[in-house]
Amino acid sequence: MADVLVLGGGIAGLSAALFLARSGHYVQLIEGDAASAPVNPDHTLRGWPRQGVAQFGHGHAIHALARRTLRQCAPDVLRTLAAAGAGERDFGTYIPPAEREPGDDELVAILVRRSVFEWAMRRAVEVEEHIDIAAGMRGVGLVACDGRRVPGVAGVGTGDGQIFRAPWVVDATGRKSRVTAWSVELGAAAAEVSWLYSGTRYYARHFRFTGAARPPASEWHFGPAGDLGYLRFSVLEEDRDSFVVTLNIAPTDQELRVLREAEVWTRAALCMPVLAEWLALAEPISDVYVIGGLSNVFVRHGPTTAVGGVIPIGDALCQTNPTHGWGVSMALHHARLVAEALNRGQAPTPADTADIVATLSRFSLPYYQAAAAEDTERARLAEGENRDVTNLDNPLFIRKVAYAQAAKDTKLYRAVQRRIHLFDDPTVLARDRDLLTYAAQLAPTAVLTSGPSRPELLDRLTSTRLAGN
Ligand SMILES: Cc1cc2nc3c(=O)[nH]c(=O)nc-3n(C[C@H](O)[C@H](O)[C@H](O)COP(=O)(O)OP(=O)(O)OC[C@H]3O[C@@H](n4cnc5c(N)ncnc54)[C@H](O)[C@@H]3O)c2cc1C
Repeated sequence: MADVLVLGGGIAGLSAALFLARSGHYVQLIEGDAASAPVNPDHTLRGWPRQGVAQFGHGHAIHALARRTLRQCAPDVLRTLAAAGAGERDFGTYIPPAEREPGDDELVAILVRRSVFEWAMRRAVEVEEHIDIAAGMRGVGLVACDGRRVPGVAGVGTGDGQIFRAPWVVDATGRKSRVTAWSVELGAAAAEVSWLYSGTRYYARHFRFTGAARPPASEWHFGPAGDLGYLRFSVLEEDRDSFVVTLNIAPTDQELRVLREAEVWTRAALCMPVLAEWLALAEPISDVYVIGGLSNVFVRHGPTTAVGGVIPIGDALCQTNPTHGWGVSMALHHARLVAEALNRGQAPTPADTADIVATLSRFSLPYYQAAAAEDTERARLAEGENRDVTNLDNPLFIRKVAYAQAAKDTKLYRAVQRRIHLFDDPTVLARDRDLLTYAAQLAPTAVLTSGPSRPELLDRLTSTRLAGN
């Protein structure tokens, strides 16, 4: 019998399995998707069927907390990533040497496709002695511990009628986790779920520079980003001279859903001068990936919702608007906290379990609250309310004003980067009124808005399609 069942082999589940196994625990990993990782990382985007992860093909900024966690808990994964062609971006180097402080040298992000990042984690898990992988098996319910006065878990039942037994179950089944409902079936109180729509649809496509071409010079650290009001765009550099361009639109914009067609998507991207510059140097290496229906979600656990031994991590506990890029770092940090708790000898009782989940929740809640407050404000703006984002108390002030001004001052830059990379939770900068007041007084930085108006873009897309028919 395993010490721990990890249900779900995405980024949260893989990191939990890895960190636990390396602390001496025997882990049974149960993953719904059948395919193991391909040998060649370059085949992951098209050749690794991951229907269980809807965002698998989308661009992921892998922020510094994720890298730091790997450096400390699984440095071999960083080496695998480097060998696979992943790059790094050191945000500390933008701080003048004389002004550097401890921690600045760790503000380093990983530039990689999500599929390659997950591949490196999976490769490490596949060769780990203390991990068994049951791939192509879906958990369908928790199995209760007999003879306990309070609910406790004894394992997980799978779709084919098997029961996997262990005193701990780590729920890493992601955004669609059913484990809270399964816990209620075992007698736990229902956890309250806070939920707020994040109001954006993603259309992403990956490219690779051709020949000796390299990224155009740019003042942006990850890659250019812009906002045309009705459409936002961003570029993220990835591994092996690849990059991903994402176009975000409002979920209500039915007409622009034509962006799902690769030819239309490309036509649209070429209308933005800065994107046209990048696309001219590259060729597509993927189709267009589309995802919508994204929300900020926080599952509020308390003493009565805990089934002894069941711990939710990653997206199963907390999801934030993906434009922050917080999810992967959060998942890795959760995994680390769980391994540390088990190493301390915490027991699979309801009380100890509630304590572990409370620790994970204390870390995650400020991120959920900040993301949800921003999205509430965005929705009010979208409905035409007269809101002032340059006001310090506006929930969008930090993202719209402080982020844009960050390059002008070292202290502000450090505070913003520490928020982006999850080194400080979002309340830290929000509480620094002096710094925010200072940011508000700096001359405004222009947001990149060069591109067509919505009617112009639609006109160009429609006329091109008609001409092509
Ligand atoms: C469009 C988009 C863009 C994003 N961009 C970023 C970004 O830039 N940076 C960032 O840090 N984060 C980003 N995120 C968030 C990030 O993808 C997630 O936070 C992260 O992948 C969480 O991983 P997870 O392991 O919790 O869930 P998942 O990666 O969804 O994995 C869940 C796993 O569980 C398996 N599973 C599900 N149910 C069962 C079952 N019953 N039995 C067995 N297995 C099961 C699935 O097959 C899957 O493998 C983005 C998310 C989206 C949607």
